[in-house]
Amino acid sequence: MIPYGRQNINQEDINAVIEVLRSDYLTQGPVVPYFESQVASYCGARRAIALNSATSALHLSCLALDVGVGDLVWTSPISFVATANSAVYCGASISFVDIDQKNFNISVEALKDKLETAKNNNCLPKLLIVVHMAGHSCDMKAISELSKKYGFRVIEDASHAMGAEYNSVKVGSCQYSDITVFSFHPVKMITTGEGGMALTNDLALAAKIERLRSHGITRDKNEMVDFEENCGPWFYQQLDLGFNYRLTDIQAALGVSQLKRLDEFVIARRALVDSYQELLTPDIGFCQAEESYAYSSYHLFIVQLNLEKLGCDQRVIFERLISRGYKVNLHYIPIYRHPFYRQHGHAETFLPEAERYYHHAITLPLYPGLKAQDQVDIVRAISNPLGFQAIF
Ligand SMILES: *Cc1c(COP(=O)(O)O)cnc(C)c1O
Repeated sequence: MIPYGRQNINQEDINAVIEVLRSDYLTQGPVVPYFESQVASYCGARRAIALNSATSALHLSCLALDVGVGDLVWTSPISFVATANSAVYCGASISFVDIDQKNFNISVEALKDKLETAKNNNCLPKLLIVVHMAGHSCDMKAISELSKKYGFRVIEDASHAMGAEYNSVKVGSCQYSDITVFSFHPVKMITTGEGGMALTNDLALAAKIERLRSHGITRDKNEMVDFEENCGPWFYQQLDLGFNYRLTDIQAALGVSQLKRLDEFVIARRALVDSYQELLTPDIGFCQAEESYAYSSYHLFIVQLNLEKLGCDQRVIFERLISRGYKVNLHYIPIYRHPFYRQHGHAETFLPEAERYYHHAITLPLYPGLKAQDQVDIVRAISNPLGFQAIF
């Protein structure tokens, strides 16, 4: 079975993990801060805080931005549920902004319209979480200008976009956002097994995320409440209700080793995408447009199927590919369609572009190491119901 994505582990990765296993610290040792500094400098951000998942990173990012009960958070409906869930964990309400039919990201035009309406109705969002779909950056400059005009904060859910660029600057620089989040799940750009990272240029936000990662505890006397100089060396204080969202040093070692190959991974993925694009004809469908400001990391290769020309429904194509050993997927079911969201204020939500996208989307296998012949067979299988052999 060929999956839609998979990790790439070499001997160096394995050695890096073994080294930590033989060292003094399996967690809370030196490798986590080293991994953080490597990622921060790769992206050009002041601080990076390692977490045990991107979900945790999104949750703490929302908390650090004081998202709470009564607040409104906006995001894209075409994302993994974790993006929206992070705001719901904080007690906020979610609203969805429709997507752009060419680049599959949140539509800046739809965002503008929704903001103008919200302003007139006195219900502007506190926070917008943008998603760099499949590794293609949103137009962050335009979004940042809107955030200043309407007064909302911005988190980049860059779970797909490590190694990608926006206007030739690495995603994660936080040039146009408060916080950027990466995921290190095995299907993502680099992996630590499970893991995530929050990046920011705001040192106060970084300190808050760091504290929430470890139970809300501080050992820094400058942060303490009513610190008395005669307190003993054991002293610490819990300031907020935090969590245990820490990454282990075992995981961080894998991350450090993987990060060395990130640029190679992006190049390999982009070459595979070029091959796919040569094989795809408009009769089969179209793929995500790469805007002039974007250099995509291509975490996913998504095709919008031309179902009219193909003459069958989406499900038939999925079942055919799966029966031939290609584990295609669909990223994503619009978040508001899930029963949880339908039961929590979204029974009526229907965004036309998100729906259209959903009814035509298919994610084809893409990972460094995918074979050229598989790409040919996959594309052929989409348009050829009888299979490769029947051609002869
Ligand atoms: C994978 C993913 C997440 C969650 O990442 P985890 O590290 O698995 O928690 C969040 N948002 C998006 C867009 C993702 O693809």
